[in-house]
Amino acid sequence: MKTLQKLAMAQRRHYYTLSSLAVIVSLLIVLQAYLIVSIVDGLFLDKQTFDQVVYLLLVLLVVLLLRSSASYWTNLIGGKMAANVKMDYRKKLLDSYKNTTLTASYQGQSGGKVSVMLEAVDELDPFYSKYIPQRLMSTIVPVVILIVIFSQHWYSGVIILLTAPFIPIFMMIIGAKTQKKSEEKLESLSLFSGRFLDTLQGLVTLKLYGRSAHYKAVIQKSSLDFRDTTMNILKIAFTSSLMLELISMLSIGLVALELGLRLVVFKEISFFTAFFILLLVPEFYQSLKDLGSAFHAGRSSTGAVEKIEQELLKKEKEIKWGTAPFPKKITLIELVNVQYQYEKQGFRLENINALIREGEQVAIVGKSGSGKSTLLNVLAGLLQPDDGSLLVNKSERSTFKEQAWFKEISYITQHPYLFSGTISENIALGLNASQQEIKEAAKKAGISSLIELMPAGYDTEIGEGGRGLSGGEKQRIALARAFLRKPKIVLFDEPTTGLDLRTEQLLQQSMREMAKECTVITVAHRLQTIKQASTIWFLEKGRLLGQGTHEQLRTNNSAYRQLFDRQDEEEGM
Ligand code: ADP
Ligand code: MG
Repeated sequence: MKTLQKLAMAQRRHYYTLSSLAVIVSLLIVLQAYLIVSIVDGLFLDKQTFDQVVYLLLVLLVVLLLRSSASYWTNLIGGKMAANVKMDYRKKLLDSYKNTTLTASYQGQSGGKVSVMLEAVDELDPFYSKYIPQRLMSTIVPVVILIVIFSQHWYSGVIILLTAPFIPIFMMIIGAKTQKKSEEKLESLSLFSGRFLDTLQGLVTLKLYGRSAHYKAVIQKSSLDFRDTTMNILKIAFTSSLMLELISMLSIGLVALELGLRLVVFKEISFFTAFFILLLVPEFYQSLKDLGSAFHAGRSSTGAVEKIEQELLKKEKEIKWGTAPFPKKITLIELVNVQYQYEKQGFRLENINALIREGEQVAIVGKSGSGKSTLLNVLAGLLQPDDGSLLVNKSERSTFKEQAWFKEISYITQHPYLFSGTISENIALGLNASQQEIKEAAKKAGISSLIELMPAGYDTEIGEGGRGLSGGEKQRIALARAFLRKPKIVLFDEPTTGLDLRTEQLLQQSMREMAKECTVITVAHRLQTIKQASTIWFLEKGRLLGQGTHEQLRTNNSAYRQLFDRQDEEEGM
């Protein structure tokens, strides 16, 4: 609740308006009681005529109107506070996703995550629209009423003061119990609906395998379980509200008893005072009870805010940039003690030390999940290492200017993204290139003949995300982008699957072409690419276990040998 509270205090203006509204409402409550008592007193005890009290009735009407408009304003401001907080969180979340898109989006996780998190934001609503306004009401209104009662007849005040604490205490006890129960219920609900959905989706299969009777029993059992937990919670909820009512009724009764004795037996107070107090006391308890329900409504927000805050914390470390221009010629790229960890206890790249000299072609190899793509992301300047440095000609990567860096680096991921537009637009990608240059690049990437076969050639429209193109075609368009840009470093995450042999060979050839012009670092799965590289980095579980040529690693590194002997056999080499 702390975070939520802090955010509420950040909106001081609204907070103060709500407090003033609470004060106004308490005064209106007192005034309302006063007017009712005056009218009754005037009509029945002073024997006034209706004409004499009609103006009081009018004032009473105005008071009632004011009271309801005050509660309208309260709701409105609560809603506004909620809207502000939600907007803020949505913005923060989107910002954080914007920064992570580079690495996360091509892993295809962002879409689902964004929508889930943005929905969690909605759960913050009740805390601000219900709990906060009600809490202010429930602290201010009872205090004002109590002061008024004390000023009229302090015995009643004492009775209230003694009984009132039972309400919050009782609420807390029940709250703690129902909280746990209702969490259990939520769990059993999601279990139930999950199972139900699974079974529905698998209905045909179940029928085919003659298992429908068994699953009928399973569903029946889980639905009965669900009913039982719901009933249990309802039992607690009903008992608790009964107890709360009981406490407040007993307290009101006590006050009434005391007032009655003073009024009738001891004749110590006037009817006016007694009636006035008797009207105020229920309002006192009511506002305490209201806090309970608002508290439960706000409770769900606590879980949501924790979830969101965690998500925000997970945000990738910001990447630092400087102002230095990119060197004209790369003579040396060094990784010195590079470390990177996604999140605590998560995967980690450990102490990577390696160098790439001028003209070298590096292949990164390793099992799936060994950290190849992660290392490539670090090299690309998409991830900020936690420790260590990435040096280009002895200068830290973080000293370079961001634009200069990305102008000289091309990164071809496993799933290059194509935008809806023509093929030439997709190759040029905003670069001011002539049709001739674009064709040249496409040719080098080995895709020109394919493009020329298309209905509109280079002006063929392709769909968002490259619909209508195969994986290999997308890769080659991405390669054409790189050829057009003439970067100094090309990073390439070679796709493992989905490419036919012919496409593979075309890609290989283009890569060789590329290697003539710049430094190529590629994640490689195929022996062909690996053998072609001048240096191989062998990664396992985030560690660089070996560096060298294929033959060197094969003779010196048994883990490497194991990884490739199988592939050798498969490819018949
Ligand atoms: P490779 O490319 O060698 O298959 P990756 O570098 O993609 O391996 O991933 C290495 C490890 O890091 C994997 O265990 C993966 O689950 C984890 N990982 C990858 N991306 C993220 C991410 N954005 N957040 C947390 N963990 C990640
Ligand atoms: Mg990978």
